[in-house]
Amino acid sequence: MSTTTPAMTLTVLGAATPFPKPDEPCSGFLLQADGTSIWIDAGSGTLAELQRHVPLAAVDAIWISHLHPDHWADLLAAWNAYANDDALPRPTVFGPPGWTHRLDSALGQHGAAAKVFEVVELGDRLKTMVGPIELQAFAMHHSVPTFGVRAEASGRVMAYSADTGPCKALIELGQGADVLVMEAGASEPSEFHCTPEEVARTVGNAARVLLTHLAPGLETDVAVARFQAVSPVLVDVASVGFQLTL
Ligand SMILES: [Zn+2]
Repeated sequence: MSTTTPAMTLTVLGAATPFPKPDEPCSGFLLQADGTSIWIDAGSGTLAELQRHVPLAAVDAIWISHLHPDHWADLLAAWNAYANDDALPRPTVFGPPGWTHRLDSALGQHGAAAKVFEVVELGDRLKTMVGPIELQAFAMHHSVPTFGVRAEASGRVMAYSADTGPCKALIELGQGADVLVMEAGASEPSEFHCTPEEVARTVGNAARVLLTHLAPGLETDVAVARFQAVSPVLVDVASVGFQLTL
């Protein structure tokens, strides 16, 4: 088999923070390989955007990196979709410990999450397969429990930092990745987010970087310039509809 066959497609569903704007949903990505679809982070506005690319019936899994609204709020809307259509197959939802309790509380209904989703709680380095895609969770350094994900199919690797400050796990997460999707949620150094320079120092041997979740007020061209001042690695900035094949 040719090694140039694309193994995975990554589509940006949104990258805004800390709240969505017209045509700019919060954090969300669609990762697909060989008919398998994984929705990674359900930030506000991403459920609608997701459906431009894949019907809900074809979503195999949902990965919630952490329980900040700009990363999970649309899981609430997704619950409504699945709860009201018995024909929809139940996706597996991976989320930080306690995510079902949070969703149940929001819905005011004990057991609501487990009624429509296959429930998995994430732990550091947990490995799992979804179709042909191997997923591994990496505990990140954020203000709440947060899990980045390293996804691999046919030897191609997509790594996503979720929200995090600089930490050792970031280096391992992105090791040799074909694309490292990294937050640049800070303009100035701060404990729980990275600046573009900190992202650049974290890249290691990743082939390319996709900056996402830019700090409010951090302009795209400025973020790229600040990254490039430190690292020669190919860099893009996530925007709705941006697509990469790996
Ligand atoms: Zn966060």
